[in-house]
Amino acid sequence: MKIIYLIKYGELMLKKKNRRFFEDAVIRNCFAVLRGHTVKKVKLFGRLLLETETENEAEKNAVTQKLATRVFGLSSVSPGTSVENDLEKIASECIAQARKYIAQHSPRTFKIEVRRPYKNFAKTSLQIASELGSAVWTEFQHLEVDLNAPDMTIRVELLQDFSIVYSEKHKCLKGLPVGSSGKVGLLLSGGIDSPVAGYLAQKRGCYLNCVYFHSPPHTSAKAKEKVVDLARKLLDYQTKMRLFVVNFTESQLMLKKLTDEQYFVVMGRRMMMRIVNRIAKEYEFKAIITGESLGQVSSQTLENMHCIDTIAELPVLRPLICYDKEETVEIARSIGTFDISILPYDDCCTLFLPPNPNTRSRITELEREEKKLDIGSIVEKAVQTVEIIDL
Ligand code: ATP
Ligand code: MG
Repeated sequence: MKIIYLIKYGELMLKKKNRRFFEDAVIRNCFAVLRGHTVKKVKLFGRLLLETETENEAEKNAVTQKLATRVFGLSSVSPGTSVENDLEKIASECIAQARKYIAQHSPRTFKIEVRRPYKNFAKTSLQIASELGSAVWTEFQHLEVDLNAPDMTIRVELLQDFSIVYSEKHKCLKGLPVGSSGKVGLLLSGGIDSPVAGYLAQKRGCYLNCVYFHSPPHTSAKAKEKVVDLARKLLDYQTKMRLFVVNFTESQLMLKKLTDEQYFVVMGRRMMMRIVNRIAKEYEFKAIITGESLGQVSSQTLENMHCIDTIAELPVLRPLICYDKEETVEIARSIGTFDISILPYDDCCTLFLPPNPNTRSRITELEREEKKLDIGSIVEKAVQTVEIIDL
């Protein structure tokens, strides 16, 4: 027997004119997260139907779980069974599913819910529901019918060529399909925040490319591996993932040697932005995402963020700007990045950290310090030696 997954969209339904574009993106993402499973698209009628040729319970649960937790833009997924458009056969499938549900959950009340999107049955949905309800009740007479808040709901969708019977409905992630908002560059460090910021950007339809700055030999190969592992976690939600690894050693050494150390962090971020501007132009990013949160550390004050933004040539989005650390940690745990982020490998930015970083930098002061550097050649060298890793 085949298992059919009835998938409903969230906000997509509202996007009338661009509906096709959003649907295509959502389907691409469903197939991407289901790599390794044999899945076929069967129908699309304002909801998506996918089909797997298996009766295996573990396989069914794995597919359901992936659709429920890794595809943005879906509101619910219901694994069910496809049955011929024959009321007797539909009734026996309702009974079979009720039997299984009763064994697992011991419900006391139930209802049958019927939908006929094509109105191709002579009887009304209510008539059919009541016939199917009687069939189920005849089999399980200890159950009572409750149309408002039943313990068990068996749902039937009568389609043109076949029907689907299902008793489970799983909530999905909602949001918008990854890719529907365009491609962005996530500044991904090995910390806790930036992977969460990337996940939230994905939730609103951003397709991520990641940019990581390291300072070999001062930062280790392990630190880079950690970032690759974090990028892989975010790959769970999209079709592919590109990671740009930028050598930041010279930038940091020059800043350290030639400029006033109180501005080290903010000037470092401005250097990062100059390099990212170049990558963004070449690879057509539409925005830059960072994991900054207002007031979390000395570099993340409004004044300092303003100094960073004046260098950026694209909008800088900071999904965590108003999040408390605990809120971020909670998401990091739920998406499996937390345990990777807390591995103790150095980040380039902590290496040369001055004892008293300036929390209220002014652009004029930074520009005065930056005159001491040959910014053009530092940026050029960094851009020329970018390593691209396709995951
Ligand atoms: P995170 O936990 O994401 O590292 P954080 O709280 O440690 O953030 P900072 O280290 O000040 O804060 O970094 C602020 C943001 O700047 C990061 O969230 C990230 O987007 C970006 N960033 C910092 N260091 C790097 C790096 N080495 N490579 C790429 N982006 C970085
Ligand atoms: Mg950090």
